[in-house]
Amino acid sequence: MATTDESGEILGPFTDMVQRATTVVWDTVAANTPGDLHPRTILLTLFIATLIFLVRRGHGARSADGQERKTGYLNFLLPKDIYTHISARVDIWLWVLERILRPLWAVSLFATVAPFTEQSVIGSLQWLFGETPALQINYAWMLLYSLVSLLCYDFVFYTIHYTMHKTPALWAIHKVHHSAEVLTPLTRSREHFLAGPIWAAGAAFSYSVAGGMFAYLFDGGITQATILNISFFALLFGFNGSFRHYHVQFHYPRWLSKWLQSPAMHHTHHSYLQKHWDTNLAAVTSIWDRMFGTMYIPEKDEYTPWGIGPKTQAEYRTFWQNTSGPFRDWYKMLRSGSSPQAGAVPGSPDLVPPTDGFRN
Ligand SMILES: [Zn+2]
Ligand SMILES: [Zn+2]
Repeated sequence: MATTDESGEILGPFTDMVQRATTVVWDTVAANTPGDLHPRTILLTLFIATLIFLVRRGHGARSADGQERKTGYLNFLLPKDIYTHISARVDIWLWVLERILRPLWAVSLFATVAPFTEQSVIGSLQWLFGETPALQINYAWMLLYSLVSLLCYDFVFYTIHYTMHKTPALWAIHKVHHSAEVLTPLTRSREHFLAGPIWAAGAAFSYSVAGGMFAYLFDGGITQATILNISFFALLFGFNGSFRHYHVQFHYPRWLSKWLQSPAMHHTHHSYLQKHWDTNLAAVTSIWDRMFGTMYIPEKDEYTPWGIGPKTQAEYRTFWQNTSGPFRDWYKMLRSGSSPQAGAVPGSPDLVPPTDGFRN
């Protein structure tokens, strides 16, 4: 069967088929590209990295071993030892698997957690304060809505992240993010597929708490407010997410680091040195980390070797090792009847801290 395309040109059946297939592939790739790999975000990342290169005269980038080094411009932006590392390749496959499995739970989670939370918040506010004040939306309210959403999300992210670090059974899942031996912008999406539903439920819950509060205040007229909200988040999250997993150190002035988490602060989160464990756990701000005593502002060029440490790194190198990791840890936990050393996390009551200072 022949058909015509938009320009009126007649296409043979095979050309038509190939073109359709290409469109499907392209649409799928575009729809599944993480927000932090958006061309706009990458350009901004490269632009800021170039500024750092110029200001610090070739210093400020890390090599695959987490050590700061002076290097030429191209290697500064795209170091060969990082982008050809097995860890960078495993990032891709872990992300692909997570994407394939995502539809299984994403729809059901967002269709249930979000409306339920929103309606519960609205119901509680009506019960507490009576009917909606039906406020008029203006820019100040929209800004406040963005800010409250951000703080809600950041707090829920902090709580989940903290729990994942401190509970051996959950650390077994989150360990896959920390088994990254090098950081690339795609490392942000490096997670075990079981972590996806946990993070998504947290996001759905936190946004609908803020959504419910403001729907009550505006008598449901919140759709306009979300327009600003989306671009505000896209920029902040996209940039924050890609740069914090980029190997170039981007420090903020100390006073700003106390409010917003600088990308360099996430480098320490990925370090296996004991002094860096369980620090900087929030997604965007430093507010919750500061409040709960987990904030760590690194010194300039502080050494941050990434990964889980030589002792167990060999068990978390390939795609299959990472995918099967939690199941292996849980099996060990069940067999020993408690949390084994292999799933041990610093700070848990039921573990003996590793003696070599390397993270399990
Ligand atoms: Zn973590
Ligand atoms: Zn990370």
